[in-house]
Amino acid sequence: MPADRPVAVVTGANRGIGREVARQLAGHRFAVVLGSRDPGRGEQAARHLDPAGQAVAACVLDVASASSIEAMADWVGERLGRADVLVNNAAIHYDTGQRAESADLDVVQEALQTNLLGAWRTTQALLPLLRRSPHPRIVNVSSEGGSIAEMTGGTPAYSVSKAALNALTRLLAGELRRDRILVNAVCPGWTATDMGEGGGRPVAEGAASVVWAALLPDEGPTGGFYRDGRPLPW
Ligand code: NAP
Repeated sequence: MPADRPVAVVTGANRGIGREVARQLAGHRFAVVLGSRDPGRGEQAARHLDPAGQAVAACVLDVASASSIEAMADWVGERLGRADVLVNNAAIHYDTGQRAESADLDVVQEALQTNLLGAWRTTQALLPLLRRSPHPRIVNVSSEGGSIAEMTGGTPAYSVSKAALNALTRLLAGELRRDRILVNAVCPGWTATDMGEGGGRPVAEGAASVVWAALLPDEGPTGGFYRDGRPLPW
C-alpha cells in the first residue's frame, strides 16, 4: 500500500457498516486495514473494494481473541509502520428476544467480550502507533441502544455492552487528550445490514455517520456521542 497515506484500521470490516466505512475511508485517501475474523471473507471484501490491492488490505482480526489483536497490531506495525485512525466497529448480539430480568448471562458475557473488551483491547494494542500519528482518531461504533437516558428495557446484552463502550469512550477521551487523540462514540442509526435485519437507512449513510468522526479536524470534539455529526443523549 502507498507509504504516504495515513492508515485506518477498521474492525469487523468484511461486511455491513464496517466494509462501507473501509470503502469511504479509502476514498478519503487512507490506506485501510480491513479487519476480518475470517481470512477468506476479509480477502474477498478487500478485493471487492479495491481490485488492484492499492488502498485496502485485509488483516485477520478476531476482537474476541487477545492473541489475534496482538498479531494484528504487529502486522500493522511491521507492514505499514503507522496507525492514524481506529474504528472499533465489530459487534454482536442485538438481542431483541431478551429481557434483562431473564437474560441468558452467557450471551451478555459474549456481547461484553466483543463489543466492549474487543474495542478496549484493540485500542490498547494500537495506542503506541496512534500516539505517533499527527492526527490520531478513535471512533467507537456505538448505538442509541446504549444511551442510558433512553433505556426502557429490552436488548439487554447489546444495550449494556454499548453503554459500557460509551463509558470507555469518555475515559479514553479524558486520558488521551494529552496525546491529542480524539475519541468519540458514534451511532450509525438503524441501517440496512444483517444486524439491521434488512430495514433502516442505506449502508452508505450509516457509514458516513461513523466516518465523520474519523475525519474530525484537530480542534474537533472529543469524548462525545454523535449520530450524523449531532450529539446524542448519553
Ligand atoms: P453486521 O452486519 O452484523 O456486521 C458485524 C461485523 O462485525 C461483521 O463483519 C462481523 O464479522 C464482525 N464481527 C463480529 N464479531 C467479531 C469479532 N469477534 N471479531 C471481529 N469481527 C467481528 O453489523 P452492522 O450493522 O454492520 O454493525 C456495525 C456496527 O454498527 C456495530 O458496532 C453495531 O452495533 C453498530 N450499529 C448498527 C446498527 C444497525 O442498524 N445496523 C444500529 C446501531 C449501531 P463476521 O462476518 O465474521 O461475523
